[in-house]
Amino acid sequence: MNETLASLAYLFASVAFIVGLKMMSTVKGARRGNAIAGIGMAVAILGTLFHAGSIDYRWIVGGAAVGSILGAWLAYRVPMTSMPEFVAMFNGLGGLASTFVALCDLLHWSESTADISISCSTARGVDWTVALVLSLVIGAVTFTGSMAAWLKLAGTLKKGEPILLPGRHAINLALGALVVGAAIWLGGYALEHDEQTQAALAIALLGGLLGWLLVLPIGGADMPVVISLLNSYSGVAAATTGFVLGNDCLIISGALVGASGIILTQIMCKAMNRSLGNVLVGGFGQTAGGDGEKKKSSYTKVKSCSAEDALPILEAARTVVFVPGYGLAVSQGQHAIRELADLLEAKGISCRYAIHPVAGRMPGHMNVLLAEANVPYEKLVEMDQINPDLKETDVVIVVGANDVVNPVARDQKGSPIYGMPILNVDEARTIFVIKRSLSPGFAGIDNPLFEADNALMIFADAKEALLALAKGIKG
Ligand code: NDP
Repeated sequence: MNETLASLAYLFASVAFIVGLKMMSTVKGARRGNAIAGIGMAVAILGTLFHAGSIDYRWIVGGAAVGSILGAWLAYRVPMTSMPEFVAMFNGLGGLASTFVALCDLLHWSESTADISISCSTARGVDWTVALVLSLVIGAVTFTGSMAAWLKLAGTLKKGEPILLPGRHAINLALGALVVGAAIWLGGYALEHDEQTQAALAIALLGGLLGWLLVLPIGGADMPVVISLLNSYSGVAAATTGFVLGNDCLIISGALVGASGIILTQIMCKAMNRSLGNVLVGGFGQTAGGDGEKKKSSYTKVKSCSAEDALPILEAARTVVFVPGYGLAVSQGQHAIRELADLLEAKGISCRYAIHPVAGRMPGHMNVLLAEANVPYEKLVEMDQINPDLKETDVVIVVGANDVVNPVARDQKGSPIYGMPILNVDEARTIFVIKRSLSPGFAGIDNPLFEADNALMIFADAKEALLALAKGIKG
């Protein structure tokens, strides 16, 4: 009976995940899709509890209580600007959970029923053993890789710059070979319980070291690809753990996360002009030519003005394009940008928002930020669509964006962002760049746009500058 109930619950949950995911592909349906997937997850948990049988419920309730309290506390505490680091941490913990669950399944079996005269792959099958090893490795890679990404995004780990260890490719290859060796030891030999534990821990620890070392050399503009790839790895780790447990719901949900993460990775690769094959083998090597050394800035002819000075040009414009970037999120200026756009539109000036796929610090960051201020979705225009229009645009206002409008990506070989498609804002008639100083963006490099003849800097916090412009327009 419990078996049937659990299967029905898993079936319902799997359908809910798929329907929810489908609904998330439109802005209108996203919120409802999220709720449906959440209900699916709750039903899956209930199904598992029915099924749990021999597990002491006190452990389950205790674990759920500790996790929920910690999660809620963190979610309230973390500022919106730290969301990307938070998401990286979540990915990592998902991977760690998969590794722990697979490890527990092995240890529980080997302690209670293992016949030490035969190997693990003979006793439980080659497919099960392969799934176990993959779960241990991918989960561990996801955990430590995400922790490295988290520290890099937070600027704690060498300010996010690439860390290039000598001989790192050889070290990674050697670690990969050791993982294979440990997997053969675990699966192919008749081991006692302690030896099985050691082999499984060795696989997880080597995988963890590999994940850390694979992410260390990646810096600057390559992080979006890493974040989406780790998201995908966390799904694959969950799916392989589903095979270990024989849990269909976990296989389906893990596969959904893995597949959607890979699609996102592909989108990010395209945005960064990188090949997916390069990413999949962890072969970033180093950032595109960067050695991580920040040069001193060498600006000589930057022009700046105040928000008030910008008003006449803005009011004379017929078309305005806003380019939001990470600084808009830092200043929480999303409502101010909407207010300014509304005021300009009331004067008959057309306003749109140019969205670069890697603007901000997480995939879709700008879409989420502007949706919070109810900016109409049709006003958000993707890079490929808006680039041809920029030549004919009277005023572009770059708000807290830097790397995504940096022309060196087009013409300076050896730059860390060389080859990344950018928003060609330098082609517009006038560009206002709102930021607090001449500091570089995430990639740590100078931006010649700031010295362009048609560019004027407005040195201020994004929200304050936008509010000052709005006040001026109202006045
Ligand atoms: P950048 O990081 O290039 O630049 C942001 C700029 O915002 C800075 O130069 C900073 O200048 C300015 N800024 C910061 N705070 C404020 C504020 N309060 N008011 C006004 N300006 C402010 O951002 P972009 O969005 O242009 O580019 C994103 C970068 O992040 C890319 O390199 C991308 O590869 C990387 N990245 C993206 C991820 C993603 O998934 N989207 C993930 C990880 C990395 P100043 O200090 O002078 O104000």
